[in-house]
Amino acid sequence: MSTLSTALRTAIDGRWAHVREEARSELEPTRFAPPTEELTLEEYRARVAQQLRELATTGHPARGLSKDVGGEGDFGASVTAFEMLGHADLSLLVKAGVHWGLFGGAVANLGTQRHHTAYLPRILSAELPGCFAMTETGHGSDVQSLQTTATYDPETDEIVVNTPSVAARKDYIGGAARDGRLAAVFAQLVTEGESHGVHCVLVPIRDENGEPMPGVSIGDCGAKAGLRGVDNGRLSFDHVRVPRTNLLNRYGDIDAHGAYTAPIENPTRRFFTMLGTLVRGRISVAGGAGAATRTALTLAVTYAGHRRQFAAPGGEEVRLLDYRAHQRKLLPPLATSYALMFAQNELVSAMHDVQSSGGDPDPHAQRELEARAAGIKAVATAHASATIAVCREACGGAGYLAVNRLPALKADTDVFTTFEGDNTVLLQLVAKGLLTDYRDTFGNLDTLGVARFAARQFAGSVIERTAARGLVERLVAAAPGRDAQDAVLDRGWQCALFDEREQHLVDTLALRLRRAAEPGADAFAVFNDAQDHVIAAARAHVDRVVLEAFVAGVDACTDAAARAMLDRLCDLHALSTIEADRGWFLEHGRITPARSKQVTATVNGLCAQLRPHAQELVDAFGIPAEWLGTELVAPLE
Ligand SMILES: Cc1cc2nc3c(=O)[nH]c(=O)nc-3n(C[C@H](O)[C@H](O)[C@H](O)COP(=O)(O)OP(=O)(O)OC[C@H]3O[C@@H](n4cnc5c(N)ncnc54)[C@H](O)[C@@H]3O)c2cc1C
Repeated sequence: MSTLSTALRTAIDGRWAHVREEARSELEPTRFAPPTEELTLEEYRARVAQQLRELATTGHPARGLSKDVGGEGDFGASVTAFEMLGHADLSLLVKAGVHWGLFGGAVANLGTQRHHTAYLPRILSAELPGCFAMTETGHGSDVQSLQTTATYDPETDEIVVNTPSVAARKDYIGGAARDGRLAAVFAQLVTEGESHGVHCVLVPIRDENGEPMPGVSIGDCGAKAGLRGVDNGRLSFDHVRVPRTNLLNRYGDIDAHGAYTAPIENPTRRFFTMLGTLVRGRISVAGGAGAATRTALTLAVTYAGHRRQFAAPGGEEVRLLDYRAHQRKLLPPLATSYALMFAQNELVSAMHDVQSSGGDPDPHAQRELEARAAGIKAVATAHASATIAVCREACGGAGYLAVNRLPALKADTDVFTTFEGDNTVLLQLVAKGLLTDYRDTFGNLDTLGVARFAARQFAGSVIERTAARGLVERLVAAAPGRDAQDAVLDRGWQCALFDEREQHLVDTLALRLRRAAEPGADAFAVFNDAQDHVIAAARAHVDRVVLEAFVAGVDACTDAAARAMLDRLCDLHALSTIEADRGWFLEHGRITPARSKQVTATVNGLCAQLRPHAQELVDAFGIPAEWLGTELVAPLE
């Protein structure tokens, strides 16, 4: 590997670089590589179940549990190791994520000492395979409306778990179809005839012989578009009785007299606090998506570097990557993948600090973390779907062969935009977070002036929170005037455009949504009418956060050559993002038509500049050769 690639790798490996290095060597790439031969559904599931048990012996999963419950309490290391697994088989990644991350995470975060002692050791060792049974056929994104009930019976001191209708059936549940023994079931908790909202109850679903427990019906979701090694299934409960103590009772308990108690009185706040503790799953999916995207880019860029098609007049056949159209396909997404890697590293670091602080985290930091996680997850998984599809096409027919991994990468990551929170719903969450913050600060915003002021203040207060904000403000202040010829390559100019777009979108959104508070207004209709605006505001916010993470990454890089390269990549990321939304910038008078054309010309120029370094840029990802073992990386003799 070149010196430049090594220096770039140091820059992007981040705070848990040692974990990435360890994964590269100790995860034994051949052991966890995707299958090289075609397997039946059952063979694939059995293979992944076995790999999960092997993964348990590596010690990686213990990092994700805090020390007081028998883990190592290195949460950042845990999520980083998980991300590295995203270069291997994505079925294994998801199987591991469901078992340790979702199921183990529910027991650890929603349960108390008695659950930790009883279950966590066997969850860590994978002896007790589990499921996270939240989604129902009728309700996926709207978790608050789940219909499964968990009713306390004081006669027997038990909780009765029931599926009242087909719509209340638990659906798509990882681990349900084949391996799961115990399920963390989300249900409406009812005591003394009163519902207390969604809580989580542990329900055994299979006995030691693998047979369904009495009253539990198990179905198989069967073949899926991808993730063939994951046994997704359906669960229905016919008045299944479990002891009262099976309620994961950190945020809501039933005492020995059958009375419900909760540390947080407001049911909605309690519900969102419970869900908030599970934020790591969302961050992990973003990381896995990033790794899969880098694998696809490494394959496609490497292939394009040696594959030749058509000869230039009187010359040799041309390598694909020397075509501008091909550079355009691969290099801007490559630059954005660098940007997202810096943003993910920042997010993981913030998560580690918030969750390591001991006791209950600061609510403000927690809320900020949840919003950041939702935004990065939505953008990173959308980027994965789009980029992997482009990489597949960029490899022509070869990209379509299963042996070359791209079809599986595409199929396996497709659903990342849906699970752990549908992206559209997540972006609305990001925007609602922005608006809630400002409503909390300024009350009901009863005059236009206050609304405008509040929106600006709010945007300002969010802007201050990213690591690079001070630096970005200095860059913006020093940016050349809007009409300066060389402005497009000025980082301050680029940052100012991202800032202004976010600020304008949030500002005008606040004004629009203010109507919802007017007497007689149909608040739902007002919000629904503005949904495209809501999503654009959230997207602009995340774009700025990602760009600033890149700016911070460039600033922190101490190797001159790597820094210069990152600088060019950051230009390409920023300008291709502006180019993609140039309609908005033109419509809102933020750039002139001439400037818009200059942005496009500069993106082309940057593609040409980066082309000779493309291989070094993907080598820097440090993906073990065993995980790239395809015909695409080997030039024809
Ligand atoms: C392979 C796979 C594995 C899974 N594993 C698990 C698991 O282990 N455990 C588990 O509990 N769940 C699991 N799920 C379920 C997953 O979390 C849900 O599919 C997801 O939450 C979306 O819910 P839904 O499918 O009901 O879609 P819906 O919520 O019905 O969404 C469908 C469409 O409607 C749109 N939409 C919904 N609401 C709105 C709105 N308010 N405004 C605008 N648009 C909206 C969405 O953007 C989306 O395009 C899995 C799913 C799959 C496919």
